Amino acid sequence: VALPADLVDMLRRTVAARGDHPAFVTPVGTTTWAEVGAETDGLARRMRAAGVGEGDRVAVLAGNGLPFTVAVLATWAAGGIVVPLNHRLTPADLGALLADSGADLLLVGADLAGAAAEAAATVTDRSIRSTVADAEGNFLAGEAAADLPASTPGAAAPAAIMYTSGTTGRPKGVVISHGNALQNAVTCTTVIGRRPDDVELVMVPQFNITGLCSQTVPVVLLGATAYLLDGFEAGRALDAARDHGCTSTVGAPTMWWRMLERAAERDDEALGGFRLSLFGGAPMPTALLQRMREAMPQATLGNGFGMTETCSMITYVGGEDAVRMPHSVGRPLPLTELRLRRPGTDEDAGPDEIGEIVVRGGQVALGYWTADGIAPLTDEDGWVATGDAAVLEDGFVVLRDRLKDVIKRGGESVFSFEVENVLHQHSGVLDAAVVGVPDEQYGERVVAHVVAKPGHDLTPDEVRAFCREHLAHFKVPAVVEIRDELPRNPGGKVVKAELRDA
Ligand code: ATP
Ligand code: MG
Repeated sequence: VALPADLVDMLRRTVAARGDHPAFVTPVGTTTWAEVGAETDGLARRMRAAGVGEGDRVAVLAGNGLPFTVAVLATWAAGGIVVPLNHRLTPADLGALLADSGADLLLVGADLAGAAAEAAATVTDRSIRSTVADAEGNFLAGEAAADLPASTPGAAAPAAIMYTSGTTGRPKGVVISHGNALQNAVTCTTVIGRRPDDVELVMVPQFNITGLCSQTVPVVLLGATAYLLDGFEAGRALDAARDHGCTSTVGAPTMWWRMLERAAERDDEALGGFRLSLFGGAPMPTALLQRMREAMPQATLGNGFGMTETCSMITYVGGEDAVRMPHSVGRPLPLTELRLRRPGTDEDAGPDEIGEIVVRGGQVALGYWTADGIAPLTDEDGWVATGDAAVLEDGFVVLRDRLKDVIKRGGESVFSFEVENVLHQHSGVLDAAVVGVPDEQYGERVVAHVVAKPGHDLTPDEVRAFCREHLAHFKVPAVVEIRDELPRNPGGKVVKAELRDA
């Protein structure tokens, strides 16, 4: 089978080969690949009539669902660059992204009209045309239809501006190409072992790199089926998995915690249908991995590590390797080169030395979108620095911490992941995050923020005593704060800056 030339060619091949097969399932109904092809074509023609040309940005503000998915596919078919927006941002933040991206057209989900109007009103240098989905989920319903571009965009063309999660600062707009997304879809599908008969549960946001590039695009590539869940809630995710026969999914670790808790509460068999239960985006506590293994003995568990700048996955570990190396995020995908570098230098880290992961290959994005064009995100040799510290064990990557989160206490480095992992082993702990805060004596001290499991009366003293049993003394949190919940972004990552300020 020849590789598709770009994402437009990819969809056309799937429509031709798998037309009758169910493509996307939502609470509204099921759409076949032939129908997705027709809807995409229709919207792309209306977009062309509305003035969208090659390289024009089209912003999309919609929850997971068919309107979002068709908006993305149609932008590509029209030759444009799609800008998926996080609908949980404030109108002011959305406005800033809209202004930044230079989009003239905004496609809005039916329930987000108010936020979209407020956001668009903050853009003062041009007027943005927004179109809200009608009752059938169609955008630009009254528009005429114009011709599609004579040729498809090709692998080198920009396909999307994907904003990073904003965990360590303001979200950055990463420009991914058709080729970046195709390579990730092909390699991650092969390495994970996804199949055309899979039913993928998409419960992470589709506007995020994982939901779009490691779930939606691979489903299009394979002509498989996806259930699109709008807004994660554990009970609804379990219902969808059971009622629609989902065989594969990806969730942040915190989503899996909540699904396992809920499934146990209601004595539910909904997890029994998964063949592939994948996770990533944030560190996986070993205690959670153990519970997943017990709850889903039938499933292959897999951990994917990656970032927006690499168009999703960099490394993967699954199946027996994941059992043998539960603390690892795996080996690089084929066609991805990975090195560990001494932070701030060009030198390789020595064996057993902790280094920053740097990556090179066809998935590394074209650059960061700026008002003055696309700014490079790699060095001259094509390497992108991840900001993640790791060691290699037997060729497997073991993440230690984000460089920005490593706590410098006296002369020692404390890795927040390690302390969090111990906290998660405490039977009364539901969630935990560890940060460094300024300290006169030590430079920084270790502070733990902990959420108790419902019904557990957790005390800071008890948590510290538990840590003393399992950690060297300098890693034991000096302060333990018990909280109702942790500040997390839609990718399931703890926003540690908020905890440091608290
Ligand atoms: P920003 O760059 O805006 O601060 P972000 O880095 O969280 O936000 P993403 O590109 O969504 O934005 O996330 C990439 C980061 O997520 C990685 O650099 C890594 O720190 C973390 N990550 C991704 N996958 C995993 C994983 N499997 N295990 C642990 N951490 C992970
Ligand atoms: Mg980042």
